[in-house]
Amino acid sequence: MGFVKGLKCRECGRQYEKASIHVCEFCFGPLEVEYDYEGIKQSISIEKIQSRSADMWRYKELMPLDDEPQVGLNVGFTPLVHAKNLAKELGVKELYVKNYAVCYPTLSFKDRVVAVALSKAMEFGYKIVACASTGNLANSVAANSAIASLKSYIFIPHDLEQGKVLGTLIYGTNLVGIKGSYDEVNRLCSEIADKYDWAFVNINIRPFYAEGSKTYGYEIAEQLGWRLPKHIVVPMAGGSLITKIKKAFGELQELGFVDDEMPAIYGAQATGCCPIVNAVKSGSELIVPVKPDTIAKSLAIGNPADGFYAAKTIKDSGGYAEDVSDEEIIDAMKLLANTEGIFTETAGGVTVASTKKLIDSGKIPRDEAIVISVTGNGLKTQEALTAALKIGNVINARLTEFDELYHSRDENGMIAPAE
Ligand SMILES: *Cc1c(COP(=O)(O)O)cnc(C)c1O
Ligand SMILES: [Zn+2]
Repeated sequence: MGFVKGLKCRECGRQYEKASIHVCEFCFGPLEVEYDYEGIKQSISIEKIQSRSADMWRYKELMPLDDEPQVGLNVGFTPLVHAKNLAKELGVKELYVKNYAVCYPTLSFKDRVVAVALSKAMEFGYKIVACASTGNLANSVAANSAIASLKSYIFIPHDLEQGKVLGTLIYGTNLVGIKGSYDEVNRLCSEIADKYDWAFVNINIRPFYAEGSKTYGYEIAEQLGWRLPKHIVVPMAGGSLITKIKKAFGELQELGFVDDEMPAIYGAQATGCCPIVNAVKSGSELIVPVKPDTIAKSLAIGNPADGFYAAKTIKDSGGYAEDVSDEEIIDAMKLLANTEGIFTETAGGVTVASTKKLIDSGKIPRDEAIVISVTGNGLKTQEALTAALKIGNVINARLTEFDELYHSRDENGMIAPAE
């Protein structure tokens, strides 16, 4: 292992040694990990990757660690579901759902970024890790730092869903609820990161953390038989995942593992918080921050750190972006569950609903391969559904009462269907 050359500023190109830093001292541009791709080419092959265990570390040469990973050894390689029922419903020919609602250990794609960030933090010698989170990152940092015996401090908006709060506290972390939006939490955390010498996974460790998302792209390509789809739809919060999926596909092209062209990449956000979509739709380079108001709390970042690069990724790939209302999000969560048996959180609803809009408007053609990114689990955001889904039938334990209910079934055989 160990093919990292160093860090490089995305804006001015200045190079830095590997360290727990994330912005350029000269132009304040974000830093990105740079690799020795020639060295990587010599060391891995498709055969070698396929001989390894089915987790994200089968691509370890493309990860920014110097040593073997110490955290998240079982993370990754969730199913790529050939979604024939949903395809029929949306009127398209070839559709896949990359299902990260079932990732180990905390049921979202954040487990992969945390596996890299905590392993790197341990390489740097940190004993305390921390993060600012919209929920899923909190869950994953708490669980994985428990596994790695690291002390953790986690900062979230105080009014997140119960599933995200309990799914953090259970691991015995220090959880701090902040009276404010994620953007305020993040600003505070930048100040804390300056003052305390902790490994903030999405602040000073961010360049390394973000690399973990690339494995999402590698897995899709491998699971399609070392092929790229024509179109991929990705939910956006800070805008990191979408840029790293593109980087992953580009690396596979450079290594000669795939022959296909870069897919068109589409971004999805909730209308109640869509600063990146706004930039794409208006053709502007500028990300105008917004104040979030949506049930898709995991995506509710009003001032996205990688927003500019996310919008550029979409534009350069020939993709587009779409936003959807809370009502459309809930309908899409139901649609995915009804067709494919996948219970996703609100973020997955955003992606499915946005995909539907992009297909209906003709932005995504109906006859080419499409991948939808489902990034989190519905059991964590139950509040979003409690008004929409209620038990319709409560009867006494008497056969006559059931008989009566059964007689009331509709033409589809549903008894008093939920509205
Ligand atoms: C964090 C998150 C995202 C998006 O992540 P970014 O890299 O910040 O854009 C998508 N889906 C879910 C469920 C998330 O928790
Ligand atoms: Zn710079």
